[in-house]
Amino acid sequence: MSRPDIVVIGGGPAGAATAWHLATAGAAVVLVDDGRVPWRSVGQQLSSSALARLRVLGVADRLTAASTAVHEARSSWAGPEVDHRSSLLSPYGPPWAVDRAALDELLRGAAQDAGARLVRARVGAAARPDGRWDVVGADGVDRPVPVVVDATGAARAVSRGRLRWHAADRLRCTVWQARPADPGPQPWSLVEAAPDGWWYTAPSAAGERLTVLQVQDTADRAVSVPPPRTTARLAADPLPRPVARRAAMVGCAGPPWRSGLVAVGDAALCVDPLSSSGIRHALDLAAPAAAAAQGLLDGDREPAGVYERLVHAAFGRHLSDRQQFHAAATRYREAAFWSRRR
Ligand SMILES: Cc1cc2nc3c(=O)[nH]c(=O)nc-3n(C[C@H](O)[C@H](O)[C@H](O)COP(=O)(O)OP(=O)(O)OC[C@H]3O[C@@H](n4cnc5c(N)ncnc54)[C@H](O)[C@@H]3O)c2cc1C
Repeated sequence: MSRPDIVVIGGGPAGAATAWHLATAGAAVVLVDDGRVPWRSVGQQLSSSALARLRVLGVADRLTAASTAVHEARSSWAGPEVDHRSSLLSPYGPPWAVDRAALDELLRGAAQDAGARLVRARVGAAARPDGRWDVVGADGVDRPVPVVVDATGAARAVSRGRLRWHAADRLRCTVWQARPADPGPQPWSLVEAAPDGWWYTAPSAAGERLTVLQVQDTADRAVSVPPPRTTARLAADPLPRPVARRAAMVGCAGPPWRSGLVAVGDAALCVDPLSSSGIRHALDLAAPAAAAAQGLLDGDREPAGVYERLVHAAFGRHLSDRQQFHAAATRYREAAFWSRRR
């Protein structure tokens, strides 16, 4: 490939899938990722409906072979009793506990196989007066490019300050990997409300550890004791050192594009980790984002308008589901975390 038409910055699920769609459609595309593996030791849950997208990209079987199926979702939310939901009722099958680093690597490989050129670099993009972009720091991208895709996740490294951002919430997350009290198989997730937020535990991709996530208000700095059902699931008391601390934004770009720039994934739409649907949204919106980028390259803004409507519809649905979930946690309704979100 001599000169790329489109540079996708960020090689997480959103960027890799968008690059795959662009390359498959014949665009000259470069995918740039800084190789930081931001989710190295953090397990995440991949919703079952996302598997259909991964199948199209040819990576579903390799991913599930290295992941753990989560056959049941348990929740202790409205009251102390536990609600059990079997994934047997899901037409898509169970969700999967996945190794995020492995998922991202598979997706970047698929984009390369489709014809995208992968460059490992941390880059910036500067807008030129002629509307094109200088991509600074990527080997082989030494000429201005007409279209850039911001897939840098919540960092929004290119679109911050260039696309308007509507923030609905900001959360503080702490993640641990811990041993389960019961060494047997643990093919279930548990989400449990606590006075200062909520806790989530699920098997890790390899199955022998648990991923533990605490989500609080950004105003809360201290890690509190896990609530009873979560504590009973863990062997260690207190928990070991966290493997990650993350801010989680709930918000969306409006609109998620402008001339020569398209934002995708968390850079366009950030959902609450409670929904375990960030990866699915990133994959769902990759094809319309790729069409938007190709349209801007060809001087056609219509696909960008379609993409914008899809992003905003997804955000609207998410906010409505989220509100219902928060309203259902009635036992702590007076506590600050819950009353703020109500
Ligand atoms: C605590 C927490 C738990 C979550 N749990 C789940 C879950 O269980 N299931 C789920 O579906 N979602 C979950 N999410 C959401 C999910 O992580 C995101 O929605 C998803 O990672 C978005 O993918 P992305 O490709 O947009 O961004 P990212 O995954 O953040 O990828 C961005 C990539 O861009 C690279 N990059 C950044 N800046 C540059 C630059 N300047 N140059 C080059 N490369 C750059 C980064 O290194 C990274 O590889 C969770 C989020 C949080 C905060």
